[in-house]
Amino acid sequence: MKCPICKKEVEFGAPQMPFCSERCRLIDLGKWAEEEYRIPGPAAAAPAVPAAEAGEEEEAE
Ligand SMILES: [Zn+2]
Repeated sequence: MKCPICKKEVEFGAPQMPFCSERCRLIDLGKWAEEEYRIPGPAAAAPAVPAAEAGEEEEAE
């Protein structure tokens, strides 16, 4: 199987599956967070967070 982020081959049973590493897993989380930030809403007062920095513990699934 290949990492959906960097397309690197991921060993079956790897702890971060389907990602090759925690880094790629966090990148994926960041992408989802970025999507949320794009939705206009009353809570849009928060400053934009670079995708690479997203994925803190406030992240909910
Ligand atoms: Zn990867």
